[in-house]
Amino acid sequence: MLFQDLNLIEPILKALETEGYTQPTPIQEQSIPIILQRRDLLGCAQTGTGKTAAFSIPLLQLLYQERTQHKEPKAIKALILTPTRELAIQIDESLAAYGRHTGLKHLVIFGGVSQNPQTDALKKGVDILVATPGRLLDLVSQGFIHLNHIKFLILDEADRMLDMGFVNDVKKIIARVPAKRQTLFFSATMPNEIQQLADTILNNPEKVEV
Ligand code: AMP
Repeated sequence: MLFQDLNLIEPILKALETEGYTQPTPIQEQSIPIILQRRDLLGCAQTGTGKTAAFSIPLLQLLYQERTQHKEPKAIKALILTPTRELAIQIDESLAAYGRHTGLKHLVIFGGVSQNPQTDALKKGVDILVATPGRLLDLVSQGFIHLNHIKFLILDEADRMLDMGFVNDVKKIIARVPAKRQTLFFSATMPNEIQQLADTILNNPEKVEV
């Protein structure tokens, strides 16, 4: 199986070529078609399996296609929640790499640093926001971020978010995101608590395990 066989658009294929990727990893091969069909996804995968590209590539493609079909409002359309600053930065770098020919705007926000550069960047318009839960809620409550145009919600490393005590923050954030959306949920492990969280936020998901 090659990336060319996954119905990807030229701007993405070109970027993957630049990255030197030819073959999708198993999680990518399984997840990309499901996400492109606009299904919810429950993915059980560790870091190192290529899961970032597994959700970033189809997300970029769907947003790119929506934008070329009709003019979208200048608003955040996709939210990626992740537990740590390091993971958030990695995801943002992946979006930059795979999305380099899409013109889509992405931004990463996390706590422990001044919020001013983040709020300045938000004012310029963002299509995809990568965030850690605490800083996101802070900026939402101050009115710098509106989640009412979100169409794609991605939870990355959900089990770690739970372990780090973010469960209430995550629930508060999800309560502010429109119910009509596509949701992708990734976790390395699936204990009961994670399964229950997944059940409440996913709509008839396809399951992928690697
Ligand atoms: P992740 O599991 O998303 O953290 O990705 C692990 C590493 O694999 C990252 O450094 C990616 O750049 C790399 N990677 C992801 N997908 C592919 C692929 N299809 N071919 C080669 N490298 C990849």
